[in-house]
Amino acid sequence: MKFRELGLDNRLMKNLDHYSFKSATEIQQQAIPVALAGKDLLASSKTGSGKTLAFVLPMLHKALKSKAFSAKDPRGVILAPTRELARQVYGELRTMLGGLSYTATLIVGGENFNDQVKALRKYPRFIVATPGRLADHLEHRSLFLDGLDTLVLDEADRMLDLGFAPELRRIHNLAKHRRRQTLMFSATLDHAEVHDMAMEMLNNPKRISIDSANAHHTDIEQKFYLCDHLDHKEAILHRLIEEADYNQVMIFTATRSDTERLTAELNKNNLKAVALSGGLTQTQRNTIMSQFERTVFKILVTTDIASRGIDIANVSHVINFDMPKHTEEYVHRVGRTGRAGNKGMAHSLVGPKDWDSFKRVESFLQQDLSFDVLEGLKGKFKGLKPKKPAFKGKGGKPVKKATAQKKVAKKSVKRDKTFHTNVAVGDAVFIPKKKTPPKVDSDD
Ligand code: ADP
Ligand code: MG
Repeated sequence: MKFRELGLDNRLMKNLDHYSFKSATEIQQQAIPVALAGKDLLASSKTGSGKTLAFVLPMLHKALKSKAFSAKDPRGVILAPTRELARQVYGELRTMLGGLSYTATLIVGGENFNDQVKALRKYPRFIVATPGRLADHLEHRSLFLDGLDTLVLDEADRMLDLGFAPELRRIHNLAKHRRRQTLMFSATLDHAEVHDMAMEMLNNPKRISIDSANAHHTDIEQKFYLCDHLDHKEAILHRLIEEADYNQVMIFTATRSDTERLTAELNKNNLKAVALSGGLTQTQRNTIMSQFERTVFKILVTTDIASRGIDIANVSHVINFDMPKHTEEYVHRVGRTGRAGNKGMAHSLVGPKDWDSFKRVESFLQQDLSFDVLEGLKGKFKGLKPKKPAFKGKGGKPVKKATAQKKVAKKSVKRDKTFHTNVAVGDAVFIPKKKTPPKVDSDD
């Protein structure tokens, strides 16, 4: 379907033509008419399928065709979970604003608050923001949302994972015009928590799901390798990079410190790598992203901070040095490649500490995943046995509590050994469930 058939304003059509966007992707074909009809939307489609334009175009069309509810308040606010994604969406919005008389601003954490207050005093018509910093401005009364026409939540599930529910709720409660339209997008929206938030924030939404998150992304070839320990993982990583015919690579690790360590290793081998994590200043983060986009660096070593939304056409390979803690992040990490119909390659390294995450990914994808072996790099690790249910004796009969507790205690000692004798498989320290989980590399 051509964009022409969607009935978008001519000024937007001109901008689409300028960027040679002719045919609408499937999510755009389905979501744009619903959004243009003024309905709330809960929409999912695979990574790299053009969700950004699916919300940017109807938001701008509506602004062009209708009167604003307020002269000062923004007409559209787009929220994204990370600063890098917000910046990228802002860039895409700006391209579609070409030739229009609208202003827009980017409001993210890590940047000067007062400069943002000054920018907000100029009453931008559109704002792209991370939820924490936008909520701070609402608190500070540098911004009001009473007249907001359209609220977009990009990667809505990730914002909830990162603990932004209170900020989203505050923004929702303050953007209370009865004709406000709300659009939620992600490749993964099947959480109960997303459903609850959607019930709260959306008004009788239309649900569009192009293909489920666990549907196989046919443009991305996905391979898995069993690893014994950290050195083994590093040997496999180096071999994969050595043998890959890559343009650019994104490597994901579990911790900030591993991004630095691996980057140093790669650079020692004369590979042009750079580390990106939430531990850096925002200026450093901006410089690194811009350099990676301009291919100054061929390899970006990062955490889940960059798992969502980042759209860099040259990323031909993704390597999961560690499996992600959140299953959905697997889908998003590998989705940094194979975008807009291109082919991509994703390799995942699975050590003892990654095993549980790997099994969860396998069940999420509803596939039996097999392992590849690299010549000369076959290890000993074959996976962990499934855990037996506690408090069950032979034949599934319950055993006396005292005996059962002894057995469980014995088992946990055994399990600890598996996790600690090989000293860290490049993963976060193993913390048993129910204690505080390792801190995710998050944003505000
Ligand atoms: P998603 O949010 O679904 O992961 P993006 O919105 O980031 O995907 O889009 C992925 C890439 O596809 C971007 O580079 C974007 O410019 C491009 N794209 C979007 N819509 C179209 C289209 N209709 N035709 C061609 N390319 C498109
Ligand atoms: Mg996106």
